[in-house]
Amino acid sequence: MVNTAWQVIGYNMDMKYHIWTEGCQMNVADSQRISAALERLGYAVTQQAEQADVIVLNTCVVRQSAEDKAYGRLHSLRPLKTKNPRLVINLMGCLVGVRGFEGLQQRFPFVDVFSPPSDAGPLVAYLTQQDSRSQEEQETMRRYALQDGDWALPASEQGLLVSAFLPAVLGCSHACSYCIIPYRRGIERSRPVVDLVKEAQLLVSQGVKEITLLGQIIDRYGKDDPALPNLAGLLQELHAVEGLQRIRFLTSHPSYLGDELLETIAGLPKVMPHIEVPVQAGDDQVLENMKRGYTVEEYRRLVQRIRSWLSDRQPGASIATDIIVGFPGETAAQFEHTYDLLAELKLDVAHLARYSPRPDTVAARRMPDDVPDEEKWERFRRLESLQEGIAAEINATYLGRMVEVLFEEQVRGRWRGRTATNKLVFVESTLELRGKLLPVQITWTGPWSMQAALPLPLRKEERHLEANLSARQ
Ligand code: SAM
Repeated sequence: MVNTAWQVIGYNMDMKYHIWTEGCQMNVADSQRISAALERLGYAVTQQAEQADVIVLNTCVVRQSAEDKAYGRLHSLRPLKTKNPRLVINLMGCLVGVRGFEGLQQRFPFVDVFSPPSDAGPLVAYLTQQDSRSQEEQETMRRYALQDGDWALPASEQGLLVSAFLPAVLGCSHACSYCIIPYRRGIERSRPVVDLVKEAQLLVSQGVKEITLLGQIIDRYGKDDPALPNLAGLLQELHAVEGLQRIRFLTSHPSYLGDELLETIAGLPKVMPHIEVPVQAGDDQVLENMKRGYTVEEYRRLVQRIRSWLSDRQPGASIATDIIVGFPGETAAQFEHTYDLLAELKLDVAHLARYSPRPDTVAARRMPDDVPDEEKWERFRRLESLQEGIAAEINATYLGRMVEVLFEEQVRGRWRGRTATNKLVFVESTLELRGKLLPVQITWTGPWSMQAALPLPLRKEERHLEANLSARQ
């Protein structure tokens, strides 16, 4: 556990923070950094908002339902602030965005701090300014909390977190016609390779074994800065980090996932053969309306290229996609094209969404949301049941096979881990498996998860341990 200087001198010793996170992996990573900053200022985490001195709401607005949830949560905090006016409320993330927050400030005057996505700065500055220390001391505290050149996980995750997210590309400049992200997360910015390597090393030194690089279009890493390598180069640098066992990255875009990258992945054993590459629709006209920049045929060929480049990797390559149903103007026939493409390509995972008009986007401004809600649901359910069958079929091919699993945590008595292909595997065992990369034999498969047995020597060790335990009782 990291011993914070401010805890040593008694700063904020009994203060507590509560953090609520919604949305994508990037938000999970952002919340982790806010937690770590608050802990450096001496705050301890609490799961009870009512007990907190600082509450952070890290929000998502990718769909209206996520935005509604954020507003609901925000309204629920008003009575807490009325009861305890010293409570600090920080609204953060995509609800705030990067373009100013005057409207929100007027609507929610009880919020003390507004922070754009991925930025712990405003909250840390606010909290340090509340203190009566000199400006110089406040500045030192601020820099210490923001971990300039350093990176310590929150106390609750140190030595426990096996798989961590590492934001590599912030923002997005692609502007798909339906997507609000570029308006809220700002333009694309690749983080320096030296920072990423250093953070990976620091995470490994705190027990992390697997890193997932994050970016809205991760394969555009380095394209905004000629001094940086591309994603293939970054993967090579990270591959050399000692103690790091697995590297993943998401999300890819079909137009930027080239052969150089696939060849690099094929040659780097620590980089997992799992690609998240959204197709969004299986119809060329809908793709054009979405401003995605590729055709169905190009996506089809990409899937073939991924499978062919990664054919030697064990246990094969896996591909995840995202699909939006009910995009403006999507006809029944166009939806059938998406259905047929999913049935044809047989991808491992499909994240499905019903189109939701988002403010500022080209689609919301220019294209009427003309697919009725019941129809969106109907299309969603058809794809969901198709994908359930496909996933069950693919996973059934694992039955009886030995596969490597990295174990992350124990959930209700069962150890939970993932294969190289990102399949969820459960194993019943009394051994301590956290952070272990082990070959296991798959004994049961379903569409969403699998069960496995440990190899014989470990089962023997387990029996031995159990025998010792019962002898002692
Ligand atoms: N940047 C990635 C990409 O290439 O699309 C993923 C970003 S987004 C956070 C995750 C997913 O949300 C998208 O892939 C898309 O399927 C879905 N999504 C984005 N905007 C949406 C909207 N307006 N309505 C419904 N789903 C949406």
